[in-house]
Amino acid sequence: MSRKNDTRPAHDEAIIIEGARQHNLKNIDVTIPRNELVVVCGPSGSGKSTLAFDIVYAEGQRRYVESLSAYARQFLPKMDKPLVDKIEGLSPAISLEQQTTGRNPRSTVGTVTEIYDFLRVFFARLGKTCCIKCGTPIEARAADEIIADIMALPEGERVIIMAPLVELQKGTHADRFKKLQAEGFVRVRVATQGEEPRILNIEEVPPLDKNKKHTIDLVVDRLVIRDDMRTRLADSVELALRWGEGRIIVSVPGKPDVIHSTDSACPKCHHSMPAPSPQLFSFNGPQGACPQCSGIGTVATFDPQLIAPDQNLSLRQGAIAPLSQPSTMARLEKALIALGKRHRFTLDTPLKDLSETAFKALFHGEPGGINRTGSLRRNFMGGTSLNNETIREARFSQEYDVSTEHWPGVMYLLERRMQNSEAWGEILSRYSYAVECPSCHGARLRPEALCVRVDGMNIQEFCSLSIDKALTWIRERTFAGRHAVVAEPLLKELVHRLSFLINVGLDYLTLGRAMLTLSGGEAQRIRLASQLGSGLVGVTYVLDEPSIGLHPR
Ligand SMILES: [Zn+2]
Ligand SMILES: [Zn+2]
Repeated sequence: MSRKNDTRPAHDEAIIIEGARQHNLKNIDVTIPRNELVVVCGPSGSGKSTLAFDIVYAEGQRRYVESLSAYARQFLPKMDKPLVDKIEGLSPAISLEQQTTGRNPRSTVGTVTEIYDFLRVFFARLGKTCCIKCGTPIEARAADEIIADIMALPEGERVIIMAPLVELQKGTHADRFKKLQAEGFVRVRVATQGEEPRILNIEEVPPLDKNKKHTIDLVVDRLVIRDDMRTRLADSVELALRWGEGRIIVSVPGKPDVIHSTDSACPKCHHSMPAPSPQLFSFNGPQGACPQCSGIGTVATFDPQLIAPDQNLSLRQGAIAPLSQPSTMARLEKALIALGKRHRFTLDTPLKDLSETAFKALFHGEPGGINRTGSLRRNFMGGTSLNNETIREARFSQEYDVSTEHWPGVMYLLERRMQNSEAWGEILSRYSYAVECPSCHGARLRPEALCVRVDGMNIQEFCSLSIDKALTWIRERTFAGRHAVVAEPLLKELVHRLSFLINVGLDYLTLGRAMLTLSGGEAQRIRLASQLGSGLVGVTYVLDEPSIGLHPR
């Protein structure tokens, strides 16, 4: 901070402050050059933050608000004028303080920078889906696209357009053939399981063995690829799609069949997959979020260390904290004594003297019980509840009605208690901690979303790349034809925004990184990058210690 300069720049080149007396500032004058990175440094208590936030930011903000209509102003807090004689050359100011994004476990680097929003569109529009059951590529296509694909075959190629009617079904199918004939069709392709498919005139089809499985395709048209056949082809494709209920077989003699589908069902096993939409990739909505963790990526699990913090205690002394009430112990006593007989301990044995198998049986239950793995799930409010199966099971049994034959485990009892009592939230927070979600392994998304890939990469794998690698991958993508039109603006935006993150020095982060796990300085620079991505010009950005939390201690 300098005292009065002799050469005074014009106020479009600098922010000029005179006579600042706010807080610790002792009537100082300062000239801050505009359109430059200016660092305010000095000993603690010298008034750095006062100058940056209480004068430059507050006054920039105040004047901007003053310029709004009286109607708009009534919704904004009234701001006091800072103690300063004169400020010139201010522009609207945005302050990026530490930790203003709150503690939302759903925020990631990708969502805060809005890069994830573009990625969702990118994967929805350009991704290819594979069947979750058998891995067959699924491509839902418009009839126009199917026609264009057939037209792209070499001129003079012979093509058979068919509608799949029956797949591996037993029966003679005689009625079906009669009906097709009545509709005016001439040929079908019949394949009895274990035999080669044959194209036959319908009246020549031999009686089919009713105990064997048959596949029947309706021959809709046979044509030779030529420029002037487009209208006829379009009619045939439409007819075949109608008879094939959205599916069509394009057969070129001597080559494997190509199956096109206008819905997003697997052409091989018919498993229906959701059509890729941006919502499918949102872990903050029910269409995309992993059903078990509701898109948080973690679930709560009970921890023996928290349930039994003092292992010098015996069961009778209340070693298991949540079950230590005398009334609860009284109800469980018989079952616990029986368990002890099977595993050689008594109610007076300190927990630390239990054998490993006994300890495991006590907490996780004896073998042969229900499988507890991942029985907890999150609900959409971030709370925790039980998996449906456990709930169903729990409804039929009384809370602590435990048999002496088989011990279900402390964890199981706690989960059941959670289901039956109002206080489960409290129980959970005291005895549980978060672990990686067992069904999505932290990916936050439902498995169908992870089956959509662009050049072999799914959205979660992309979000696990460091930002510099992610940018390289995006830059290497090339798309042809109609995909290129869709891809161009998305690629441009992604390159743009990823570059901002690299420019603020965060190339080592991943887009999937939870904001909660970032240092204050990193979080602040991410907000700076997303601000820069918004493309506003002439704004004064005020940052508070953007490298905080990164200094080695
Ligand atoms: Zn399939
Ligand atoms: Zn999950």
